[in-house]
Order: sequence, then C-alpha cells, then structure tokens
Amino acid sequence: PGAMERLITRKLCAGYGAADVLQEVDLRIGQGELVALLGANGAGKSTFLKTLSGLMSPSAGEIILEDRNIEGRPAHQIVERGLVLVPEGRQVFPDLTVAQNIELGAYKRKERPDPSELEAILTRFPRLRERMNTPAGLLSGGEQQMMAIARGLMAKPRLLLLDEPSLGLAPAMIEELYAILAELRDDGITILLVDQMATLALAVADRAYVLEQGRVVAEGTAEELQGDEALIAAYLGGG
Ligand code: ATP
Repeated sequence: PGAMERLITRKLCAGYGAADVLQEVDLRIGQGELVALLGANGAGKSTFLKTLSGLMSPSAGEIILEDRNIEGRPAHQIVERGLVLVPEGRQVFPDLTVAQNIELGAYKRKERPDPSELEAILTRFPRLRERMNTPAGLLSGGEQQMMAIARGLMAKPRLLLLDEPSLGLAPAMIEELYAILAELRDDGITILLVDQMATLALAVADRAYVLEQGRVVAEGTAEELQGDEALIAAYLGGG
C-alpha cells in the first residue's frame, strides 16, 4: 500500500453463521479522506464496521490499517491503533454530564489528554460547549450524536468510523451535523461515514462505495455517483 492509504480491505468476507454476509469487499480510504459507505437496509454496512473494529472476525481477506494487518486482532488492540467506531444508537451515558461523556473517549489512551485537545474539539461543536455540565440524557438526539462524535475524537482516531449518524434526526439537525463532518475532514480527520441517506452523504463525501447484499456494486467520487441516476434508483432508493 502507498503511504497515503489509511485503510485497505482486500477480499474481506465475514458473516454470522455458515454463509458470509460480506462478499470479498475491496475498499480503500486515503489519509484525510471522507469516504461514504452506502447501501440499503441489510446490505452489510454494519457488518463491515463490526469486522473492521474487531467485534467480528473475518472468515477471509485482509484489513490493513496504515500498513499493518489487523484482521483477527481483538477489538481493544484495534482501538489502540486508532480505528475508532462511533456506533449506531450513540451509547450515551445519560446520567453523566456531557463533559464526562466526552472525556470517556480518551480512556484507552496511554497519555492523559491535554485540556487544549478538548478545547479544539469544542470549537467544532459550539452547541456542546454551552452544555458541558448538563446530564447527557437531557440533550436532543442531534446533540447526543455530536457528543458521541466528540467522544470518538478524544481517542485521537487515525480513522473514525461513523455508523448512521443521521438516524432519527430532523433534517435541519442532519444538515448541521454533516456540515460539521465536512469541517472535521477539512481539519484532516479521516472518516468512513456509513449512511442509508445517499444524497446527504454524497454531498459531504470525497468518494463513496455502494454495498448490495454484501458486495461492492459501485464506487467512485461523490460527484460521479451523484450524477448516476440509474445507480441511485437501483440501490439507494432514489435518495
Ligand atoms: P442496517 O442499516 O439495517 O444496519 P446494514 O447494511 O448495516 O443494514 P447489516 O446490519 O450489516 O446491514 O446486515 C447484513 C445482513 O446480516 C442482513 O441480512 C442481516 O439480517 C444479517 N445480520 C445482521 N446481524 C446479524 C446477526 N447478529 N446474526 C445474524 N445475521 C445478522
């Protein structure tokens, strides 16, 4: 792999029983890219993220994170190498404050985080800065999603995996959230964004892959895929 590749999967296969869900998935994410992984319900997007994170073992294929193979490694080692998953459903601790929830993101790190790191993250999340001492359970769904992403950033990710961050959010909140994702990419954070909402994801992504029944059926720049109406109608429900 070239020096600019942050993650590569080669013929990655994984599943839950006898049959594989993922069918030889080849995907790459360059350093600093925002890549979208699109596909309908059940296409295998969450399975792919779980396999990258070490929550599931691949049945075949390779996962290379910055020139090192990580397939089959335990989840905690993979996190330590900088592959950080913000799961669907956000996993908020409702009775802890927003600040405490965010700080939990650093618990795997060897060195204690410098206060300036939190400060830098909060410049991207002004809504959170105002609510740092509020119990997280009192935040709106969109604010909880922002908090979960801020927590992921506290882990200093080499690659941040976001599983359907738009799920259940109002359109205005989704727009605000995705504008923040674009800023994070501009800050140099490498992101894999899993989404069912193709139009939204393609508006912020650099490149995208489309999964259908565990296979990559299309890939390209966001611009190329946005212009492919037949593809969007066939696999992405028109939007
Ligand atoms: P969604 O948006 O619904 O999460 P997805 O693209 O993330 O969809 P997956 O959740 O990866 O899709 O599911 C891919 C396939 O694997 C589906 O056929 C699903 O039924 C199956 N599957 C998912 N989780 C399990 C499990 N724990 N046990 C068995 N089969 C599963």
